[in-house]
Amino acid sequence: MQTLNKYNFKNKKALIRVDFNVPLQDNFTVADTTRIEAAKSTIIKVLEDGGSCVLMSHLGRPNGVEDQFSLRHIVDSVTEIMGVQTQFVEDCIGEKAEKAVAELEAGEILLLENLRFYTEEKKGDQQFAEQLSKLGDIYINDAFGTAHRAHASTTIIAQFFPENKCFGNLLAREIQSIDKVLNNSEQPVLAILGGAKVSSKITVIENILDKVDHLIIGGGMTFTFIKAQGGMVGDSICEDDKMPLALEILKQAKAKNVAIHLPVDVLAADQFSNDAMTQIMDVDKIPKGWQGLDAGPKSTENFNAIVQQCKTILWNGPLGVFELESFSKGTIALGNSIARATKKGTFSLVGGGDSVAAVKQFGFADKVSYVSTGGGAMLEMLEGKTLPGIEAISK
Ligand code: AMP
Repeated sequence: MQTLNKYNFKNKKALIRVDFNVPLQDNFTVADTTRIEAAKSTIIKVLEDGGSCVLMSHLGRPNGVEDQFSLRHIVDSVTEIMGVQTQFVEDCIGEKAEKAVAELEAGEILLLENLRFYTEEKKGDQQFAEQLSKLGDIYINDAFGTAHRAHASTTIIAQFFPENKCFGNLLAREIQSIDKVLNNSEQPVLAILGGAKVSSKITVIENILDKVDHLIIGGGMTFTFIKAQGGMVGDSICEDDKMPLALEILKQAKAKNVAIHLPVDVLAADQFSNDAMTQIMDVDKIPKGWQGLDAGPKSTENFNAIVQQCKTILWNGPLGVFELESFSKGTIALGNSIARATKKGTFSLVGGGDSVAAVKQFGFADKVSYVSTGGGAMLEMLEGKTLPGIEAISK
C-alpha cells in the first residue's frame, strides 16, 4: 500500500485532502472536533519530517461562495489541535492560493478555503484538479468520508502526481481495518447489521454472506424478515415489498452455511415515544397498536453468546431506537458485549453513521478495535465496491 512512510517530507509541501466537514455551532465554533483530530497523525508526520502542509477540504453544501460555509471558522480549532499556528487563504486555487503556498515554510500549515465554493469540485473537473495540483509536491488523500466520490480533490487530482501520491494514516487504517474483516479475518467472523431498513443494507448483506460465519440482523430490519416468515409484527417498521428479498437472503445464507440470528423478543411500545407504554413481547407475536423498538432480554443474551464466540466482528447499525433512552438498552448491551470480546482479543470494527454515533454516545469508542470515520464510504466498501479515491492512489 502507498503509505506516508514511503516518503520523507523534508522541504516538501504536502497537499493533503482532509475531511474537515465538521459541524459548526450557531456562533461558528466547531461543535465536534473528531474529524480534525483524526487528521493529526498525518499532518504531524509531515511536519516532523521537516515539510509543510497545505490542507484542502469541503465544508457543508454551499451554493457558491457562502460565508457560513467558510473554512475560516475552523482555523482556531486546527491551530489548537495541531499545536501549530494555522494560516488560512481565502481561495483554494488561483493566484492568492499559489502565493500563500509559495510563502509557506517548513513546519507550517496552510488551510485552503472550501473546495465546494467551486462547483467544479463535485463535478470532478480536470482543469480545477490541475489547478489544485499546483499547490503541493506530494498529494496525500486522508479523507475516507469522501473516498467514494470521484471529486476533483479526492480522485481526479491524483493523476497529476503519478509518482508522488499516497494514503494518509487515517485512510490507510480505514482500508486495513475493513480488509481485516472482509479478507484477512480470524474466524469465526460475525457481522451485526442493524438500523432502520433492509433496503439500505441489502447489497452489504449480499456481499458479506460470502465473508462471515454468523450474521446478526437487528433493529428495524428485523421485522421485514419476521413478517416474511409469517410472524406478526404489529405496527413495527416493515418493508413489505422487501419480504421476498428477505426470504431469498435467508435461503442464500443457508446455502452458504452462514448462521443468521434474529431477535427472539423485543421491547414493544404503544407509540414511538420515550414515555410510551412498553412490554416485552415475542418478536413474531406483536399485536396491532404495538411496535418493536428495541431488542428484548432473551435476544440480548443470545447475541452476547455469539459475540463472545467470535474472533472478528463488524457492527453496522443500532439494535433499536437508541436515540430514545427507553429503547437504547439493546444497543448499549451489544456495545458492552463487543467491548468485552475486544478485551479478550477479538478484532472489532464499528462503522456506518448511526452505530458510530451510538458507540460515542455510550462511551464504547475506545473499547472497540476501530471506529470508522466514513458512513457512506464504509458501506460501499462493505458492498464490495472499489472506491474511486482509493483506486486513484493505488493505480
Ligand atoms: P440506519 O441509518 O439504517 O443505520 O438506521 C439507523 C436508525 O434506525 C436509527 O435512527 C434508529 O433509531 C433506527 N431504528 C433502529 N431500530 C429501529 C426500530 N426497531 N424501529 C424503528 N427504527 C429503528
